[in-house]
Amino acid sequence: MMGIEGKVVAITGASSGIGEATALHLAERGATLVLGARRADRLEALRNSIVSRGGTACFIVTDVTRRQDVDGLVALAVEKFGKLDVLVSNAGIAPISPLDALRVEDWEAMIDVNVKGVLYGIAAALPLFRRQGFGHFINTLSTAGIKIVPTMAVYAGSKNAVRTITEALRQEAGPLLRVTGISPGYVDTELPSSMTDPAMRAQGEASMKATAIPASAIADAIAFAIAQPSNVDVGEIVLRPTAQG
Ligand code: NDP
Repeated sequence: MMGIEGKVVAITGASSGIGEATALHLAERGATLVLGARRADRLEALRNSIVSRGGTACFIVTDVTRRQDVDGLVALAVEKFGKLDVLVSNAGIAPISPLDALRVEDWEAMIDVNVKGVLYGIAAALPLFRRQGFGHFINTLSTAGIKIVPTMAVYAGSKNAVRTITEALRQEAGPLLRVTGISPGYVDTELPSSMTDPAMRAQGEASMKATAIPASAIADAIAFAIAQPSNVDVGEIVLRPTAQG
């Protein structure tokens, strides 16, 4: 199947930022959305907004650090709509800090959400995609993994772990499945709210205000990858503000 219309797309981290913008954009183009994140009120509002515009969507509370939750998100797509065309593993957090600060709990949280969350997505969807004979994994990476800077060691490391896993998945996927990594630069979202160090959060918010591009730009890129013919696999898209160094 080519294009976006009629595709069933599950998104983790759909309650704000890039995930929310992507859900709205894809719904406008005729996709059916299965929305996952932890904040039920935000998911419900998004589902209602999509439905009020004539789209189709459902949601389930999903914490990507819990494998059974991610299994449940994929299962909901099949239960409600009979298939899953695309899994966008987008949930992520960025509680950045210098390594000297030894914020070990933050390191663990980034590994749990940013890395294990994506692996749980693969574990949930890969067997289904094999059975179906089609399926598209889209994983959210970051330019933080391309230009490595102080304070982002663990965040960038988590994103580069996913970059590596995504490329290996692409090679193992075979001719029927598609695998895409999306690497955004500064995007105007709620991501600084996941920064637990107040100084880092203030800095993150300032950088975002100064240079960020809207989440809709990333939604467009994700839509581009999905809309390609089934034998065209978009490997990685890097997009950042022109003002980002
Ligand atoms: P937001 O904070 O706006 O969105 C993050 C989303 O992830 C929210 O929907 C949040 O929902 C969800 N999330 C966080 N923890 C969990 C969890 N344990 N289980 C399920 N969902 C979770 O930020 P962005 O939109 O910017 O982030 C989306 C992705 O883009 C992330 O992977 C981020 O690393 C990446 N990215 C962002 C950039 C930016 O500049 N904004 C740049 C490069 C990459 P909830 O709290 O309801 O669970």
